Amino acid sequence: MLKEIISLFYPQICAGCQMPVHKSTWAICLNCRIKMPRTKFQTFEENPVMRLLQGKCDIEHGFSFYYFKTGNTVQDLMHALKYKGIIKVGEEFGQIIGQHLSRNKRYKSIDYVIPLPLHISKKRLRGYNQCDSIAQSIASKLNTVFENKMVIRIKATASQTTKSHFERHENADKIFKIKRPEIFENKSVLLIDDVITTGSTLSSLAAEFNTIPNCKVYVGTIAIAN
Ligand SMILES: [Zn+2]
Repeated sequence: MLKEIISLFYPQICAGCQMPVHKSTWAICLNCRIKMPRTKFQTFEENPVMRLLQGKCDIEHGFSFYYFKTGNTVQDLMHALKYKGIIKVGEEFGQIIGQHLSRNKRYKSIDYVIPLPLHISKKRLRGYNQCDSIAQSIASKLNTVFENKMVIRIKATASQTTKSHFERHENADKIFKIKRPEIFENKSVLLIDDVITTGSTLSSLAAEFNTIPNCKVYVGTIAIAN
């Protein structure tokens, strides 16, 4: 009751559109949930995410759930999650995506959901990894394991090189290190990032998992930017 009275004066505001949220436990309002442009990539055999990663790593399947465009709600919500500390946005994105994946045959056999780790310097600065909450909610909807301790980011940024993907691969320009790769032998992993742009960071992590015997790699991001 007290909570209801308080909410009359301090209504919960949607992190996307800044309008009052009627379901007071939500950070993303119903209107934004309906309005955000979905890609439906997870339902396609081939899609733009898979084309971005082609030739850089081997994946079973990959998807982005929404389109990220300058000024759209998806961008506003990403900003709230990454820079305003509204971790609940990540949780809710993960719940929405996880619910869809749980009904998708391709994603039934996932053993581990793994967020793309931040470099330690960046994590200290931000205080949290924005991908943790997304991956945790997806793992919970898929009834599988959330794992964020086994991958370390050893380089803060992907190198800007003019070499082709294949030449770069031969140079073994590692961004990530997997602590105990044997855990992932004969397993399926779903790697989670927030936004995919060129795919170079995500493909670098996927390629690292490709070195593990019989490890099947899937990738997913909340949004794709173009
Ligand atoms: Zn909203």
